[in-house]
Amino acid sequence: MLSRSLKRSLLPAIFLLLVVFLVLSTRPRLYSFQGQIMGTTYNVSYVANLFTHPVKEVSKAVYDALADVDQRMSTYKSDSELMQFNRSPVGEPFRVSQDIVQLVQEAQAISDMSDGAYDITVGPLVNLWGFGPTQWAAVKESPGDEDSHELANAPEFVKWIESQYPGHIPDEMAINEARTKVGYQSLKADIGDSTLTREKELFVDLSSIAKGYGVDQAAAAIRALGIEDFIVEVGGEVAVQGVKPNGKPWRLAVIGPEMGKNGISALVEPLDKALATSGDYLNFFEVDGQRYSHTINPVTGWPEAKRVAEVAVIADTSARADALATMFMVLGDEKGLELANRLGIAARFAYYTDEGFETVTSEAFKPYLVEQP
Ligand code: FAD
Repeated sequence: MLSRSLKRSLLPAIFLLLVVFLVLSTRPRLYSFQGQIMGTTYNVSYVANLFTHPVKEVSKAVYDALADVDQRMSTYKSDSELMQFNRSPVGEPFRVSQDIVQLVQEAQAISDMSDGAYDITVGPLVNLWGFGPTQWAAVKESPGDEDSHELANAPEFVKWIESQYPGHIPDEMAINEARTKVGYQSLKADIGDSTLTREKELFVDLSSIAKGYGVDQAAAAIRALGIEDFIVEVGGEVAVQGVKPNGKPWRLAVIGPEMGKNGISALVEPLDKALATSGDYLNFFEVDGQRYSHTINPVTGWPEAKRVAEVAVIADTSARADALATMFMVLGDEKGLELANRLGIAARFAYYTDEGFETVTSEAFKPYLVEQP
């Protein structure tokens, strides 16, 4: 039993410890968490203090936001809103969530800007070349065809195995047949009725924009909790806001294939904007030394094989940056840089040369670049 005098002498020490604990736990610090979704990973870091924003609360809000986008906009879930639309009767308006209509309208505007180089109706070609949820490549057009639904519900490991198949080059006839089902002009979006209409057989694939949209939704969920300083990354698409605990801006490394020191192509500070990258070195297969990546030219029906290895785009939203990066992968560095400079888009192109890589940067991208140490 402690004597009264001893207790009295310990009080200041206990009080001091309490003050130190309160100061430390209320002082804003960096907290982080990770997860998996949309066939990829996500990472979040945010600046808060221990009491106001525990990791459990923030990570649940982020997961719920991402899972909502995944459930509604995935082509890998046979019951997603998007896949129900992809099986809806041709010519009949199909009601979908407002944000899907808005995302389609944003995608259509980027299709117009690129004369169709970017086109979310490219799905039949993506699936044919084996870059989509391959089991859908076999999907019959008639809705309700049971065995294709069976395939679609295959366990993740089956999809993983399928996705690991060595690539194959489809025959010309299959490519031409798939091309007849591509064309964003035949996809009608009506924001008033919140409907989409397929004016011919189409398979809409939002993989090039909805991951970025998931980042935007996760950022909105963090902001709704009252957190002002954070960074959200999903499968390489990133949104940042505010500053790090030391008051400095968030700094991102654009990582390319063997580019620059330790693969870092550039260091950027996006300052409350979003950064997206697309490349031909993450999702591809090779046949006879020729690389076929998952970026498909909707006009030719073949994977784009220009010399661009990677494009990084900074834009106000992650969805827009995501779609623009895919668009530039199809346009290539020459046409792409001309368009980026004409429209004031912040884009950085890395392309293959005989000696390795070269990079070119649009005027709008330059202010975000940070000199590499
Ligand atoms: P990006 O360049 O951002 O997008 C490339 C993708 O865009 C291609 O894969 C193709 O789908 C499409 N595309 C190709 N050419 C064009 C073009 N010319 N115009 C428009 N689009 C084009 N993957 C899994 O393995 N399992 C999953 O469960 C899974 N679920 C997903 C759920 C959602 C909601 C989303 C959006 C994607 C999901 N994915 C899944 C796909 C995976 O995340 C993709 O690899 C990723 O979305 C492609 O992004 P990227 O940054 O790799 O390439």
